Amino acid sequence: MVFLDYQVECTIPKDDGTLVSYVGFRIQHDNARGPMKGGIRYHPEVDPDEVNALAQLMTWKTAVADIPYGGAKGGIGCSPRDLSKSELERLTRVFTQKIHDLIGIHTDVPAPDMGTNAQTMAWILDEYSKFHGHSPAVVTGKPIDLGGSLGREAATGRGVVYATEALLAEYWKAVKGLTFIIQGFGNVGSWVARLIHERGGKVIAVSDVTGAVKNQNGIDIPQLLKHKETTGSLTGFSGGDSLDPSELLVHECDVLVPCALGGVLNRENAAHVKAKFIIEAANHPTDPEADEILSKKGVIILPDIYANAGGVTVSYFEWVQNIQGFMWDEDKVNKELKRYMTQAFHNIKTMCQTHHCNLRMGAFTLGVNRVARATLLRGWEA
Ligand code: GLU
Repeated sequence: MVFLDYQVECTIPKDDGTLVSYVGFRIQHDNARGPMKGGIRYHPEVDPDEVNALAQLMTWKTAVADIPYGGAKGGIGCSPRDLSKSELERLTRVFTQKIHDLIGIHTDVPAPDMGTNAQTMAWILDEYSKFHGHSPAVVTGKPIDLGGSLGREAATGRGVVYATEALLAEYWKAVKGLTFIIQGFGNVGSWVARLIHERGGKVIAVSDVTGAVKNQNGIDIPQLLKHKETTGSLTGFSGGDSLDPSELLVHECDVLVPCALGGVLNRENAAHVKAKFIIEAANHPTDPEADEILSKKGVIILPDIYANAGGVTVSYFEWVQNIQGFMWDEDKVNKELKRYMTQAFHNIKTMCQTHHCNLRMGAFTLGVNRVARATLLRGWEA
């Protein structure tokens, strides 16, 4: 068990020459099962409590996925939408200069998260390499040209869909023919929407920070993706009607997939949720009060530490490929991802049957037990 909480001040010149400071964090939670692993988030709401909670979730998530890592998380309290590309690059490089000794191939391996992407990882890799030599495995979620893995970009969304399929199969159901609502249309939400649509699922409503759109007959997702790419927004899409984003979570559907920020399902709205299944593609979208209300209503919740583990699982494949110096084809990445996600679901189910508990409790029991066993085997605890 480690628990290290680093807080650094990052000062950069803006494009107009004025100096501005941001606070950056890296919180390392646990390394009993292997190097710590977790994303770096750029968002105005990043604070130490949130990063700490997310670092802990990574410890249980990597254990549930059964990949040889511990958990960590990082972030910078900033609004990436309001920064130019060169400002983002300077900020990322300054942050890397401050944390380069904390991260490393066998100690702590960052990855993208909300507000960061493959380009951010490329800057971190480049800056880190100035101190330690070229080390592609120090970050995952890199561009393919710098040692990234095929399939990593889609991996979190694809993993969400594999997880959903594993859950639905338990109820003799399939994606095809069911109605889905997707909250969040960034990397994860847009991949979930695309893959659900490809499988014949009906995505009847989608939202992002710019607004929400609904169509009871099913949204044409490829068209919506094109619209978002050209206009940068969901609003004004001709293939559906606009909807109040707060309405979206309580709209009638079979499966609700929150893919954005934490805490969106809470005391205020939980009682009004009409979905039969909730797939937690975001990290902690359901607060504890909502969890209780929804469970009492009989809503089946697939917990975040399992549902969105596809991203970190393919990060593991990327790290393995970098260390081996051998690149897998995309088909192999997706097949292995499906194998890990399906196996993890069956392991959670076994826990639920053994302990007569719901999926969240089953997933935590699985993860915590694995970390505890590794901790004891190392002789770290009496
Ligand atoms: N940020 C992602 C997560 O929360 C991926 C982390 C990783 O790949 O290390 O799971």
